[in-house]
Amino acid sequence: MTKIGIYFAYWTHEWDADFHPFVDKVADLGFDILEINGGTVAHMSSAERKALKAHADDKNLTLSFCFGLPKKFDVSSPDPKVREDGLAFLRRMTEGVGEMGGGNLGGILYSYWPAKMPKEEEDKRPYFDRSVESMKKAVKYAEDNNVVYCMEVVNRFEQFMLNTAAEAIEYVDAVGSPYAKVMLDTFHMNIEEDFIGDAIIRTGDKLGHLHIGENNRMPPGYGHIPWTEIGHALRKINYKGHVVMEPFMMPGGQVGSDIGVFRDLSTGLDIDAEARKALLFMRGVLK
Ligand code: MN
Repeated sequence: MTKIGIYFAYWTHEWDADFHPFVDKVADLGFDILEINGGTVAHMSSAERKALKAHADDKNLTLSFCFGLPKKFDVSSPDPKVREDGLAFLRRMTEGVGEMGGGNLGGILYSYWPAKMPKEEEDKRPYFDRSVESMKKAVKYAEDNNVVYCMEVVNRFEQFMLNTAAEAIEYVDAVGSPYAKVMLDTFHMNIEEDFIGDAIIRTGDKLGHLHIGENNRMPPGYGHIPWTEIGHALRKINYKGHVVMEPFMMPGGQVGSDIGVFRDLSTGLDIDAEARKALLFMRGVLK
């Protein structure tokens, strides 16, 4: 059975949190995976990481990790010092995840987030090439720590380098390690891909992690994403990886601002019950 998870920030206004209450909540709702902020893990003590991992193990919950590098750690930057700082941070975060047994670390690991292409630039290729050079070094940290880097493809309004599955396939092929994979997200695919199912099928065994969300970032089942097509595509490529929902409904805080939630989509809803409903819906889609 496909493991299905949820991202903790569904319930929060800030990216940093004490994850322990979410371990209990998400396990009790019936999920298999809790996805947490990799950046927070980088700053946790060794004892805190081990305690969180033990708690997750106790609840039979897998942890996965997501992060968008800030501009000061952009591994595609023209500034060699910024790239070097980015690599040092990736190493710290990866070792932190490694201390928790490893797993999938996804997101904008290849550049920074949110980001537009600098106005003076017309060609993103130098950014892509510098990023690949950095990632060839960084992926060794992943290999050493049982971590799989999953390069998240996001829409043009959030990043400029990898907007389609095809671009991400080219990227991970250039990095050339089984520890560097493609990560797709149905919310972003809805904007950029011609056909979502085809993009999944083309990604094939390079797909390392899948975020699911509606076009409006509501929990799956509340929008017009073609779930039947997605279920078919995942079965066709025999996908055995993680599927993590990443709904956002509440405005406010850094999460509301970064994600662009400018109206309360949760009005009148019990968001725990909605998460559970979306989980059951996805179990049907992925069976
Ligand atoms: Mn995502």
